[in-house]
Amino acid sequence: MLPMPHGGKLVEIRDMSPDSLDRSDYKGFIEVSYETAVTVMDIKNGILSPITGFVEENDYHSILNEQRLENGTPWSIPIMMGIGEDSSGKVREGDTAVLSYGGNPIAEIEVSQLYRYDKKKHSESVFGTNSADHPGVAKVQEAGNVAVAGKITAAGNVAVPFISDTLFPKETRKIFSERGWTTVSAFQTRNVPHRGHEQIQRLSLRSTDGLFINPVIGRKKKGDYTDEAIMKAYSALVESYYPPNKVLLTPLHYEMMYAGPREAVMHAIMRKNFGCSHFIVGRDHAGVGSFYGPYEAQENLRNFNDLGISIVPFEETFYCRKCEQLVTDRECAHPSSYQERFSGTKLREIISSEQLPPPEVMRLEVYNVIKSMPEPFVR
Ligand SMILES: [Zn+2]
Repeated sequence: MLPMPHGGKLVEIRDMSPDSLDRSDYKGFIEVSYETAVTVMDIKNGILSPITGFVEENDYHSILNEQRLENGTPWSIPIMMGIGEDSSGKVREGDTAVLSYGGNPIAEIEVSQLYRYDKKKHSESVFGTNSADHPGVAKVQEAGNVAVAGKITAAGNVAVPFISDTLFPKETRKIFSERGWTTVSAFQTRNVPHRGHEQIQRLSLRSTDGLFINPVIGRKKKGDYTDEAIMKAYSALVESYYPPNKVLLTPLHYEMMYAGPREAVMHAIMRKNFGCSHFIVGRDHAGVGSFYGPYEAQENLRNFNDLGISIVPFEETFYCRKCEQLVTDRECAHPSSYQERFSGTKLREIISSEQLPPPEVMRLEVYNVIKSMPEPFVR
């Protein structure tokens, strides 16, 4: 049996109907960011079950303080929408408002609360820091001071890249069942695959029926791999090396917050909603810079024995020239001169140069796909 959706039931919010766009009884109209439009799409399709909208104040404080909704369900980062003080006069509690993106209505929301929140406390709780050098904190500082809470009652999908390759939880659960998978390992990534990733995926394929590779695509930082590079590189790996019908590759449209330990919990919950029984957590999961310790995300996940998805922690994998294979510190006692650690910077250098990657670092098929792109990095 695949795990139940988080909170017991998969959320599914009805489409915006063409008539709903002509309704004259809408009280408010809120133009939202791309990030919020994507969040609405994730709520609509049950990726964030059991959340049906933007959280109310009681849940908000419970999440900050306990990493749980008020009813006790594990939940580590508040799903919220902040608006500016000047816009807050335009919507009132009790209104049915329209959310629009780029001037097009994308959702209806029943506004249940408007509340102010303390950005400093918010950042310290969610990110463990109030430093504006942290990209998540910087976004909070830019966001409006007033949180709009309420249930989304109708929504549409926004135009996102790779929409034809995108599967939502209802569909992935059906595919897992049709393939007879009862245990599925979820692999989160925002990078192109190197051999270290492949090793972890292979180990997961030995112990569970299927592997769900679910790269996060969305707004990126300069120097990150483009969405296209990540998706095509993974397609090359899956097609060239993995047995057919053992792996499902589909993108997750989601904006990284780089909240490390707390975000790892959200990543696990979303994959549980897709139907996965196991969630792989490597080194510095969802981290940025040196804000979190390398295994802090794994440690935070140990606080939850009721998450409903098994956490599979992995230590850093590297190649040892003496062992002649990919290893971790648990199995290899050789000096660092034998050890070839995977470094994002080094990989980028290889890709940007004309040298071929060593086979113990990256598959040639993966390299060739990336190399054939005019611009594999975000400029
Ligand atoms: Zn060794």
